[in-house]
Amino acid sequence: MPLMKSWVDSANSPDHPFPLNNLPYGVFSTEGGEPRCGVAIGDMILDVTAAEAEGLIALSDAPLFDVPLWNELMEEGPAVWAALREQLTMLLAEGAEARHKVEPLLVPQADAQMHMPFAVSEFTDFYAGKHHAMNVGTMFRGPENALPPNWLHIPIGYNGRASSVVVSGTDVRRPWGQLKGPNDNKPRWAPCARFDIELEMGAIVGTPSDGPITVQEADDHIFGYVLLNDWSARDIQAWEYQPLGPFQAKATATSISPWIVTKAALEPFRCDTPEREVELLDHLKDRGPMLYDIDLSVTMAPEGKEASTIARTNYKEMYYSSAQQLAHHATAGSPMNVGDLLGSGTISGPEKHERGSLLELSWGGKEPITLETGETRSFIEDGDTLTLKGAAKGDGYTIGFGDCVGKVLPALDDPFAR
Ligand code: CA
Repeated sequence: MPLMKSWVDSANSPDHPFPLNNLPYGVFSTEGGEPRCGVAIGDMILDVTAAEAEGLIALSDAPLFDVPLWNELMEEGPAVWAALREQLTMLLAEGAEARHKVEPLLVPQADAQMHMPFAVSEFTDFYAGKHHAMNVGTMFRGPENALPPNWLHIPIGYNGRASSVVVSGTDVRRPWGQLKGPNDNKPRWAPCARFDIELEMGAIVGTPSDGPITVQEADDHIFGYVLLNDWSARDIQAWEYQPLGPFQAKATATSISPWIVTKAALEPFRCDTPEREVELLDHLKDRGPMLYDIDLSVTMAPEGKEASTIARTNYKEMYYSSAQQLAHHATAGSPMNVGDLLGSGTISGPEKHERGSLLELSWGGKEPITLETGETRSFIEDGDTLTLKGAAKGDGYTIGFGDCVGKVLPALDDPFAR
């Protein structure tokens, strides 16, 4: 499908992240105003809450956008998701009859502050990128034992904290924690010295389930995707992770990009998972292409300096799709709810510059990276701003995600010092 033209001129550029083909959903406010639901179109946001109040959008007898979160739309199910996309396309397409009614409801993105686009019910994070698992496993256990014996059979995950998920632009405070390095004879209480990012995609569950579902059903249940940065305290993680996995190392914050890119917008970019190295059991087998060809990158900007790109990779490098992860998550009976967020796991490619964490890029701090501005980094320093970017390239158009940005602030004074 080529670029769909809009009467909002900025949406028609082949490189713009928000053409009519995209229509991602967010929550925004302007100075002095309350947060509202909106859809990005070019450089503008259409106020969906106002469009519904004025009868330009009609989906249900009761309003769906009176609360500034997209959960209510998700609860209506896939037929209503499709109806909204159709109505928005009609309102914003070149030659739209209703243009004179819609135009007053546009707000420049430059004047808007973005908020959490949906209420996160629960947050689960996976470890499903093979290059990442191989790199980390090689560092910690050597190349022969890099992949745990279950890794090629199930997508490994852990239950995170929904309360720690924040929207792009939220500052992240360096945490304190209990640390014990390999050469320390006892643990100590200190600020994290190895604070890191993880470049991930987040899948949002839009349809609930209560018990096992197939991979195909799981794919149908996903509403959309965001970029996700799973901030990670590597020194806290190294001491705590055995035997039950990460805990406080991942509890500081998880940032997501502000716009939910719907599965409908990503349809043209579907692709297969990489070749299976061992056959999966039937309940986790691929049922068609359920990954997406999305270019991803990470930039780092020291305080007051220009940003340097430190990694480039692609979502198609994942070994397991979000549909496989969701299907696996539901196997033992855990209900999945509208607004559940599933982190893909860190996305690294096979090459050195394709690694999605500083742990891998600096090989555990042994090979610091040099930024374009001359600074070197093994891990994040105070004042650094980390940005994740994502874009799928179509035929004369781009499906962008909106940046996922976070600045790291210095640790507070010792919270337990008297
Ligand atoms: Ca992670």
